[in-house]
Formats: sequence, structure tokens, C-alpha cells
Amino acid sequence: MQCSRRGCNRPAVIYQRYSGLHLCEKHFIEYIERKVKKELRRQMGVESGDRIAVALSGGKDSSALIYMLNKFFHDRRDLQFVAIAVDEGIKGFRKLTLDNAEKLTNKLNMKLFTYSFAHEFGFTLDDIVSRGFEQAPCTFCGVLRRRVIERKAKELGSTKVFTAHNLDDEVQTIMINYIRGDIERLRRLNMHRIDEFVPRIKPLRSIPEKEIAVYAYLVGLPLLTAHCPYAKLSFRFSVKRMLNEFEMRHPGTKYSLLRGYEHLMELLPPSTEHQRRLLTCERCGEASASKLCKVCEIIARMKMH
Ligand code: SF4
Repeated sequence: MQCSRRGCNRPAVIYQRYSGLHLCEKHFIEYIERKVKKELRRQMGVESGDRIAVALSGGKDSSALIYMLNKFFHDRRDLQFVAIAVDEGIKGFRKLTLDNAEKLTNKLNMKLFTYSFAHEFGFTLDDIVSRGFEQAPCTFCGVLRRRVIERKAKELGSTKVFTAHNLDDEVQTIMINYIRGDIERLRRLNMHRIDEFVPRIKPLRSIPEKEIAVYAYLVGLPLLTAHCPYAKLSFRFSVKRMLNEFEMRHPGTKYSLLRGYEHLMELLPPSTEHQRRLLTCERCGEASASKLCKVCEIIARMKMH
């Protein structure tokens, strides 16, 4: 098949069922990068003097994000980028992606800071799993990793945190919150958290996961085949499968869900003072929705068992 762009007769490397377009390598890379730049402008953009912390796992999404940021901004002397990686302590998996993160940041001449659950909390994710709690490992992992990234980004003096959440991640989160009927969380998902947090930006939010994989392959980033052994145990995994099946049968489902959600958020009244009010965790002093934050709850449960 030939590229659908007018005047281009190069062979297509991808067919987008949702748009009906065939794109060659050059036009596909341009398309992805244009979309990411647009998303950056739409969310908050990059401002002179920014010190941006990029959450880097070493997987395809965060590697592609760092690669693009370097491509877009490498000659901007008024900006600083640092990468933050988190070692949750998942045997046989995380080391592979962290090695990748190290190689990539070395190549791009970017500073990489790696923090571990073991050092920050005194236990690894594998330790948590070994206790046999009924919740899926991702529930603990997400809470702890977010804390490490937020805290370290603040300590490093970052003005913004970039994460590599893609369209699939975003739509899964929206669907999970719809299923749980959690409107407040849905509302929060749409906000750039400014108050006491470093604002969080998701530049890949409108790119499907598969397209990021193709982009990463085309620009020569290493594609790891390793998957987290715990991913399949999560509720998110079931939602992911369901959405992929829908997308297959009804191309464009994921984009429709994202746009529908954004439209809905415009119509919803903003949170009331009461809903927005965050308490302070009585143990660690971090912002929390209850007396004890989720991180301190996990630490307490680990001490009890
Ligand atoms: Fe953590 Fe779940 Fe991701 Fe594995 S799949 S790294 S347990 S959030």
C-alpha cells in the first residue's frame, strides 16, 4: 500500500483503521511528533526556565517520550530535563528496563536519578506480593511509585513532571473510574495538579500504544519484550482487553471515549471546596484525602504482617 498523503508514493508502514489513512515512515513520524507537540501546547506547554522531570521506566513509551523531548528541545539552553526512574523491586523484570533507561539517558546526555522502593520504604513490590494481600500488586505499586516521583521531582526542584501515559492508559483509567462510578477521580484526572503538587503533563496522551511502539521501532529505540509479571492480575488488564476488543471491532472507540470524557468534564460543575479539600497525612505530612495517606497505610500494613 502507498502512503495516503498527497503527492507521496512511498510505501506505507502503518494503516490507521480509525482514520482510514496509510502512512509512510516519514509521514507517520511527522504525524506522531506533530500530535505530541500539539498535546504539549494544549496541556501546559514548556516555558523558559522550566526544569522538567521525566518519569522514565525504560519501556517503549517513556523511551519514546524522552527521545522526542530531546529532539524538540535539545537546543533550548533555557530548559533542563532530568529523568527519574523507579525500581519497584520486581525480580526478573525491572532491571531490564532500568538498564535500557540508563543506556538511553547516557546516549542523550541526560541526567538519570534512580530511586527504589527498598530504599524509600524499606520493602520491595515483591515483598508486598509475598504477603498475599487480596488487592492486586498494581494497586500498591501505583500509589508508591507516584509518591516517589512526586517527592523526588519536588526535591530536584522540578517545575513540571512529564509522564508517558498514552491514549490506551488514559482511556483505561477513564473507563475504570466510570465502572467504579468515581466522578471525583474522573474530575481530578482532567486537572493539571498545581496546588501543592508539581504539575503533571502527559504529552503522549492522545497517541495509541501501538503507534508509540511503531514510532519507537522506526526511530531505532530498543523494544523490550519483557512484561511486568503482575500486570495480568490487575483490574486494568481486564479493562485493557475489553477496550482492545472494542477498538478492533469498532475502530476509533478509544478516541471517542477520550473526546466524550473531555466534553463531559466541560459540562460538569467544578469540584466544590469540600470535594477539593485535601487533608494532611498525620504520619508523613503529605497531602491526603484521609487522616492517613495511602502510602502510610501500605507501610502500616507491611509492618503488621
Ligand atoms: Fe507496577 Fe502493575 Fe506496572 Fe507491574 S504492571 S510495574 S505491578 S503498576
